[in-house]
Amino acid sequence: MKVIEKRFLVNTKAELDIKNITDKGQSIVSESGVQEGMALFFVSGSTAAITNIEYEDGLLHDISEALDRLFPKDAYYKHHEKWQDGNGHSHIRASFIGPSFTAPISGGRIDLGTWQQIILCDMDVKAREREVKVKIMGD
Ligand code: ZN
Repeated sequence: MKVIEKRFLVNTKAELDIKNITDKGQSIVSESGVQEGMALFFVSGSTAAITNIEYEDGLLHDISEALDRLFPKDAYYKHHEKWQDGNGHSHIRASFIGPSFTAPISGGRIDLGTWQQIILCDMDVKAREREVKVKIMGD
């Protein structure tokens, strides 16, 4: 079994920036030569997350609205007293979504559903450069 790690950078905008990283992930899986196994996508940082969605404008709007309802930016966050960085909502949103997504690799492809794409969600209050680690295991 091979274990391969690759990393790539993604530049993001402030607040909720949702990037479709599926094609980049697939090119890394293809380069790995792994035909059967799994791929883990992990973002470093406590105000970003990786999950999956049908990447279309309506849902990108809906996920933004849902996050605003669940974790409002203008709510009180004790975290602001620690660093005065104003991103308490960003941390909580990232914790709930989670920093990683794992998918099976079948026939050399990330085995996603037809309408399923892998997304990086950056929720910080300023533009960032994010590092995504991809760990591929298989044969
Ligand atoms: Zn913070």
